[in-house]
Amino acid sequence: MGKLLLATNNQGKVREYTLLLRDAPFTLTTLAQEGLKAIVDEAGATMEENATIKAKAYAALSQLSTLADDSGLEVEALGGEPGVHSARYAGEKSSDRERIEYLLAKLDGVPLEERGARFRCVIAIAIPSGQVELCEGKCEGVIAREPNGELGFGYDPIYNLPNLGKTLAELPLELKNEISHRGKAARLALPILKRLAMGKKA
Ligand code: IMP
Repeated sequence: MGKLLLATNNQGKVREYTLLLRDAPFTLTTLAQEGLKAIVDEAGATMEENATIKAKAYAALSQLSTLADDSGLEVEALGGEPGVHSARYAGEKSSDRERIEYLLAKLDGVPLEERGARFRCVIAIAIPSGQVELCEGKCEGVIAREPNGELGFGYDPIYNLPNLGKTLAELPLELKNEISHRGKAARLALPILKRLAMGKKA
């Protein structure tokens, strides 16, 4: 079985993809396992661009089929912010906790019915010669007033799912994967990966 490089240093994403792609016809490997350093400046204006930039760059560097994900949170009351800036919202070196506090402060006084948001995940799958395929998943929710739950990563503790009455950080990994933006995108990625493993290009 060939290797598929997961082009991320985000351990939360690695945990989720390890489960989501367990039936993919590839052995998963990571930047850390391949001894690869982060080389990519996420300078694109959209998640599609950033996912493509990352997947192509790491596929060329590693000479492996590569999956990169660019994802983020779009809050309606903030005109779609933080979007592509989700990872650096409260500053370049900010922690998940600082980003949550920053976002909650921005939404101070905004009533629950106006705190709608969605998570988006764009997956790019690239091969070393440069060909890329994209797929996308979304997950609708509401920004809670305060954090709840210890699981997951990033903004999960303040991402409330009205149907479940819980935040993403209160859901076990399997359940988050069932409903999340990343889970939906990964299920669309599986047939692409199967085709790739059989040696067929797009
Ligand atoms: P990037 O895709 O590396 O640019 O980073 C995306 C950022 O969006 C992460 O660092 C998180 O802050 C946030 N994010 C993306 N997906 C999730 C998720 O599933 N849960 C919580 N936060 C997420």
